[in-house]
Amino acid sequence: MNDLQVSGVVKAYGPGATALDGLDLTIQGGQLAAVLGPSGCGKTTLLRVIAGFLRADAGTVTVAGRTLAGPGVHLPPERRRIGIVPQEGALFPHLSVARNVAFGLTGTDRGARANRVDEMLDLVGLGGYGDRMPHELSGGQQQRVALARALAPEPHLILLDEPFSALDSGLRGAVRAEVRAVLRDSGATALLVTHDQQEALSTADSVAVVRDGRVAQCAAPEDLYQRPADPWVASFVGDAVFVTGTADDRTATTPLGRIPLATSPKGLRKGLVLLRPEQFRLTDPDTATAHGTVTDVRFFGHDCMVIVAVDGLEQQIDIRAPGPIQVQPGGRVGIQVTGDATLHEVPA
Ligand code: ATP
Repeated sequence: MNDLQVSGVVKAYGPGATALDGLDLTIQGGQLAAVLGPSGCGKTTLLRVIAGFLRADAGTVTVAGRTLAGPGVHLPPERRRIGIVPQEGALFPHLSVARNVAFGLTGTDRGARANRVDEMLDLVGLGGYGDRMPHELSGGQQQRVALARALAPEPHLILLDEPFSALDSGLRGAVRAEVRAVLRDSGATALLVTHDQQEALSTADSVAVVRDGRVAQCAAPEDLYQRPADPWVASFVGDAVFVTGTADDRTATTPLGRIPLATSPKGLRKGLVLLRPEQFRLTDPDTATAHGTVTDVRFFGHDCMVIVAVDGLEQQIDIRAPGPIQVQPGGRVGIQVTGDATLHEVPA
């Protein structure tokens, strides 16, 4: 299988400018993984090291069992069997769609090359578009051609570098879903670099969250969201509410009531209990486990964020409620918690 293995990769641009700090990452063959992290965390550097445009200072990169980079080894990009889907401006403007897709095909048999181009254009839903020029396509169609071009030479790995950032938000969701479907059909292993949490969670089979040149956590989207490794990851991948609590086996006792824990607290007796805003229900005061006063209501169409000053809690909490909702600032509400939580050490 075309597994990707990155082990202990270090890359510094100079003294005190370490972009990758011993990064480890394993992606199973056929999976679409996202590399997610804030600006400057090392995403682009990682992509360029894997592609071979940058030489790592230490560590190894292996794809499909071939060492592409390691001690004494640095295969040039063209020998790595890696396809790249860059950001905007990916296509050669003076070449037709078919010639763009054929660009990386090296065989001399013109018939076989033409067949492969047709096959790839069919795969991305653009059969019959081969004679068009890039400017005659929509932004989403251009990205699909870029994907067809990257897939045509049957690479072991596809790298997608923020491929949807140039698309307007209305189109982005649809193109993401199409690209994901094409990658599934092709069976390619793919790495999607993004700083967009929603994009990573909704598109990838697994998400590696990178912080300061290392993978802070790599997990399936649901696990990452529900069982984040630490408060930083929890807050980075979504809205988070932290309350202090004490743990007793698999239950936390908090000012919001007793809440089951999704994972063992591993000896931690006291810490920060993580909840998501959608885990709260505004409820009848008689059945509530906590009470509070509404301080603000923000309407987003599909839901509302209700900000509540909970009795006995110093901080306010954010509650996501299906909107529109009949509560006003100043109103008293009862609160119930649903689902489970995770317990974390208080960051130093
Ligand atoms: P963004 O999301 O903003 O593109 P990124 O996660 O891709 O960020 P990188 O571009 O990999 O981050 O950069 C990682 C770190 O290395 C940053 O601190 C950046 O300033 C630094 N860096 C990147 N390229 C160079 C360079 N050519 N010379 C010096 N420092 C660099």
